[in-house]
Amino acid sequence: MANRYSGFGLFRHALRYHENWQRAWRNPTPKTHYDVIIIGGGGHGLATAYYLASQHGITNIAVLEKGYLGGGNTGRNTTIVRSNYLWDESGQLYEHAMKLWEGLSEELNYNVMFSQRGVLNLGHTLQDMRNIERRVQSNRLNGIDSHVVTPDEIKKIVPIINIDNLRYPIMGSSWQPRAGVARHDAVAWGYARAADALGVDLLQETAVTGMRIEGGTIRGVETNRGFIGADRVGCVVAGNSGVLAGMAGLRLPLESHPLQAFVSEPLKPVLDTVVMSNHVHGYVNQSDKGDLVIGAGIDGYNGYGQRGSMPVIEHTAAAICEMFPMFRRVRMNRQWGGIVDTCPDACPIISKTPVDGLYFNCGWGTGGFKATPGSGHVFASTIANDSPHPLAAPFALDRFYSGALIDEHGAAGVAH
Ligand SMILES: Cc1cc2nc3c(=O)[nH]c(=O)nc-3n(C[C@H](O)[C@H](O)[C@H](O)COP(=O)(O)OP(=O)(O)OC[C@H]3O[C@@H](n4cnc5c(N)ncnc54)[C@H](O)[C@@H]3O)c2cc1C
Repeated sequence: MANRYSGFGLFRHALRYHENWQRAWRNPTPKTHYDVIIIGGGGHGLATAYYLASQHGITNIAVLEKGYLGGGNTGRNTTIVRSNYLWDESGQLYEHAMKLWEGLSEELNYNVMFSQRGVLNLGHTLQDMRNIERRVQSNRLNGIDSHVVTPDEIKKIVPIINIDNLRYPIMGSSWQPRAGVARHDAVAWGYARAADALGVDLLQETAVTGMRIEGGTIRGVETNRGFIGADRVGCVVAGNSGVLAGMAGLRLPLESHPLQAFVSEPLKPVLDTVVMSNHVHGYVNQSDKGDLVIGAGIDGYNGYGQRGSMPVIEHTAAAICEMFPMFRRVRMNRQWGGIVDTCPDACPIISKTPVDGLYFNCGWGTGGFKATPGSGHVFASTIANDSPHPLAAPFALDRFYSGALIDEHGAAGVAH
């Protein structure tokens, strides 16, 4: 039974020198068989397990993670959360996630530090501004808070930004006030703790090495800890999705690319919103502990290394310095990469597969953190009912046969 976290509990633990905190989750021995196995202990996999247990009453579940929980893209991203996508299908999916974000800390009894500090997506050309206006109108039709703001209004929101003195002056921006950031590790840990409390087995250092499929139906998975049987298997492994699909004899329309980010030394508060520019290509926010969190475009080559190349860092730093000249003297502390799974239409795949009982949730590419609660919620429903959740249906694999692609390259925020 998980203890509830509260201010009073914190005080009580302080009196005992914080020596008796309960472990956040168990370290169970794998069972021989589960009703559902989720492969991938990132935010999406953990959220899927949590909603399967909390919404659908399926608790005989294991999450299999080859490393540690949240050690993939979930713990490596720049934490931007927004829902201002262009097309109805994606706008509605990301807005579904946004509504879940708004109550997530209370629901999980875990502070995920969701901070609705607003996101600006800057426009630097007339065509940028046309696209921004179109997207803002589309957002409004979907009930998503979205505005076009002028350079003067941008300067009021972010006084330190350089509006005019750039190669591509800032001509305006979209502005979503309900957007913001959340603490990425806390999202994984919060879902993990809540899922564990509902009986889900979280198996770390458990790598899936093969899939057992008999007569077109999944029977379980081979792992470094032996075979584990399952009636249904959900695969949520981001950049490794192509590898896992290969184990089931499937080919997915995905490419795996490195995507980098870096953080600076901590500064006093200077930036209380998120600024993104597709055109000069860099995005930045300031974390609660003061670091500038800076994101870039993908490295152009395919790869599975969780690092990236120097030219991307150089290009991004140049873009950030151009928009924020005062950051020129800031020192960078750390840099890293994740492996993102990009789809031809920059949209996810949430789908049944030709193998009975095998499901894939992937293709979130450079922008899946913001979708974590919504993705887990609709994927859990898809697995539990063996039928797509209405919000997930447009993102099924059959769109690559029908041609009904949902082109979100313009709203993706990171060039692919
Ligand atoms: C640098 C960077 C910046 C980003 N910035 C943002 C942002 O600002 N906003 C945003 O919305 N999105 C952002 N993203 C994208 C976002 O991080 C991802 O879309 C999202 O976190 C994917 O979550 P996930 O749970 O699907 O994947 P992951 O967190 O990667 O989890 C997948 C897990 O599967 C495990 N796994 C893989 N193979 C196996 C196997 N064979 N057996 C068992 N386990 C396995 C991995 O170890 C991993 O832990 C960014 C990504 C990166 C890399």
